[in-house]
Amino acid sequence: MTFSYALRMQMQTSTPSPNVKFPVALHDGLVIEAVYYGSGTLCLSSQAGCALACPFCASGSQGLKRQLSVAELELQLQQFRQMGFEPQRLTISGIGEPLQNWENVRSFMTSCQKQGTGISVTTTGVAIQHLEELITLATNGVMLSLHAATADMHRQLIPKGPDFLPLCNELDRIYSLISRRKRRKLGINYLLLSGINDRQSDQQALLTLMQRWPDFTLHLLRYNPVANMTFDSDPDKIDHWHDSLLKEGISVRRPNRWRNSADGGCGTLYLQRNFP
Ligand code: SF4
Repeated sequence: MTFSYALRMQMQTSTPSPNVKFPVALHDGLVIEAVYYGSGTLCLSSQAGCALACPFCASGSQGLKRQLSVAELELQLQQFRQMGFEPQRLTISGIGEPLQNWENVRSFMTSCQKQGTGISVTTTGVAIQHLEELITLATNGVMLSLHAATADMHRQLIPKGPDFLPLCNELDRIYSLISRRKRRKLGINYLLLSGINDRQSDQQALLTLMQRWPDFTLHLLRYNPVANMTFDSDPDKIDHWHDSLLKEGISVRRPNRWRNSADGGCGTLYLQRNFP
């Protein structure tokens, strides 16, 4: 084996250790971002911008510019490979709401499935009619971002998202249809925002909600700061919530160190323009 061949082999099978956020230029001058988490997951964007414009999220702050094609989903993976690395798994959790670009996301996921590449997806559950199919296709699971346990709070944090009560009812229906193994791959995301959804009454409402779906896992997320937004999370409160909910029998996780480090949080990827 020549030295250069050995080096190339090493590069192809290695991964960068910290989080790496990188821009991907599209043919029309738009630039999206993808991020590699040091844990081995490459996070892809599904849209250029996002129509949901959740108030805490940089990715949706400019609204939706357009859908990404299947080729543009693949382009993000190719560009990462051209940097000399290979991800262990993929997640569609970057810029955009995957269910609002469902045809292309589905084609991409089907192709990943054929190649045996594990893929997960993060969604608000908007376009609720696709949720069951998404759960079936996502080999590594689905993260459902609720960030709230009541309809009022949900409307405040995801104002253009799905209606909370029909979404919960659809989750009840899907819960009764899928295997326990699949259920355990479904996570509920809850981003703790100081002074907004982290009161004692919020925790109690979340406990009641999670008891409705005992096989789902709750992910308590920390807010990673983005420019011009004043939200934050209290890490001590995340620990307190984690311990309290665990004691009540909820399957609950805290953000890992990759999610806590730079560029690791929900909604930190930006849409840019290459030129004016
Ligand atoms: S949090 Fe997700 S759904 Fe909300 S604006 Fe950001 S990318 Fe869109």
